[in-house]
Amino acid sequence: MSSHQQITDWKTQEQTEVLTAFLQGLNSRHIQALDSQAKEVSAEVEQNIDCLDCGNCCRTSVTTFTTSDISRAAKYLKISKKQFIRKFLIKDNRDDSYITMQTPCPMLNDDNTCQIYEVRPDVCSSFPHTHRDNFKNRIHAHTANLKMCPITYAVVSRLYEILQQQ
Ligand code: SF4
Ligand code: SF4
Repeated sequence: MSSHQQITDWKTQEQTEVLTAFLQGLNSRHIQALDSQAKEVSAEVEQNIDCLDCGNCCRTSVTTFTTSDISRAAKYLKISKKQFIRKFLIKDNRDDSYITMQTPCPMLNDDNTCQIYEVRPDVCSSFPHTHRDNFKNRIHAHTANLKMCPITYAVVSRLYEILQQQ
């Protein structure tokens, strides 16, 4: 059994709607230092939320693997690239990359750890991307993640509070 406590009660429908409207409204606002504020808040929030208590992104999202992600992960697991693809991935019809063959991610363990954590794709290690430059360019993703990711919810809640005071 996992030693981690599953995160519960981290969102309300009412507040999710408020935060969704706030995010949508950012499109038409010029906020100086939004990226640096989001970065700072993300660092604070990430110290207080343990992803091992959640795992929602790995459970519900399809993950893209680039050629270099595949090489790195196959080497880490000491199997060939072909074996890695056969075991975990399918071809992405949209381009030359591969995606995880199912959700939850086939590399997710029962205790929310990742079989390839040390070499996981950048898209995984950077998730939920609230600390990255161009916060406004990801409003669509942040809005979708509000319902799934406690870190996103907490970061956007904090940004909402900060910007209300400005
Ligand atoms: S590769 Fe690891 S971190 Fe990425 S989705 Fe799968 S289990 Fe999660
Ligand atoms: S990044 Fe978000 S959704 Fe993924 S495990 Fe951490 S808190 Fe949960």
